[in-house]
Amino acid sequence: MRPPFGMAESAIGKRARRVRYHLDRMINVGFIGWRGMVGSVLLQRMREESDFEGIESVFFTTSNVGGQAPPEAGTGATLLDAYDLKALAACQVLVSCQGGDYTGKVYGDLLKSGWRGYWIDAASTLRMADDAVIILDPVNRGVIDAALQNGIKTYVGGNCTVSLMLMALGGLFREGLVEWVSSMTYQAASGAGAAKMLELMAQMDRLTSAAKSAPKSDALTVETAVTAMQRSAEMPTAEFGAPLAGSLLAWIDKEMPAGQTREEWKGETETNKILGTSKTIPVDGICVRIGTLRCHSQAITVKLTKDVPMADVESILASTTPWTKVVPNNKQDTIIDLTPTAVTGTLTVPVGRLHKLRMGPEYLGAFTVGDQLLWGAAEPLRRMVRILREHLG
Ligand code: NAP
Repeated sequence: MRPPFGMAESAIGKRARRVRYHLDRMINVGFIGWRGMVGSVLLQRMREESDFEGIESVFFTTSNVGGQAPPEAGTGATLLDAYDLKALAACQVLVSCQGGDYTGKVYGDLLKSGWRGYWIDAASTLRMADDAVIILDPVNRGVIDAALQNGIKTYVGGNCTVSLMLMALGGLFREGLVEWVSSMTYQAASGAGAAKMLELMAQMDRLTSAAKSAPKSDALTVETAVTAMQRSAEMPTAEFGAPLAGSLLAWIDKEMPAGQTREEWKGETETNKILGTSKTIPVDGICVRIGTLRCHSQAITVKLTKDVPMADVESILASTTPWTKVVPNNKQDTIIDLTPTAVTGTLTVPVGRLHKLRMGPEYLGAFTVGDQLLWGAAEPLRRMVRILREHLG
């Protein structure tokens, strides 16, 4: 308490008041799935940005109840059971990076039990629900703020390729310049989770061993040995179902009607939901898993609503977000700045290879790369926790 007006407050009193003020504004957050690919990046980013200040954290697990919790939970704190509805319901905010199956099993029961807290999720399960908002605040902060005002409690990160496409091209959508988009993707193994990325590494290991057994100077013999290993039963393929190392897989997620995969279907549905469009903008393409570890890349064709000069296209794209970076359309800048190697672990979303295609002046070609674990997953979740802290504080 402040001393009565006019009386000096001691230094200890001032500090105690600051601590009490801080505690009053604390929000209580439970983390589920913090050990996986998205969850680990989320924790890393929250630590870098000091986001745990002002948060009372508890951590849940589906595999190690009673194990040691991360230090943010406090000395000696242990992991709680992620299926214990009472423990979950004690949290004001729950952040799940555990996956869709988990959300499907727990979320409905939690609501039925009377819980009315905020649910922030990386999985797709709830994305298209009427009472859920897809969060990508550099692009749709207005939609998020309106939802908070309207009492919406469910906030879901978008599909990684969709979020990264919007981080790159959002300016063109904002200016009403997009008639349709076709995106052909090159998606990293870690986009499918920790276990799959580890399988890719094991596959690479086998291929390296096979290459070492062939004479180094003879490229064809090396290729023959590596191809034989890719086709052999020795290749670990339990996760992907086929060799990915030194190859690619042109199918991601489940089959949908009309020949699409679910990953491809998300392109149009999520883009339009994130932007809150009144008339659906068509988005389609082919989604492909490739043998990179991290970062999704996309070769994009945009049908513009009119012939826009390239200089205007570039300045509109550059204004999309503070993290969007236009890469000049030349070889040197492209091979240095527009690669998963350059982008991994950074928030920069480069967009390059910008030029009008031969089909006509309204057809724009572009290539973009983004870290799918950052803007494609963890970063919008991290920022939503902050937005909630401001909203609730
Ligand atoms: P993940 O790496 O498979 O982790 C999910 C859970 O699997 C972990 O929390 C952990 O749970 C368990 N797990 C099993 N084996 C593990 C291992 N070797 N290392 C670490 N954890 C292991 O999944 P994720 O890629 O983070 O994806 C989580 C959700 O985010 C999914 O719904 C996914 O679709 C979505 N998403 C992912 C990405 C991406 O780039 N990966 C991007 C956008 C959205 P316990 O600790 O409880 O055992």
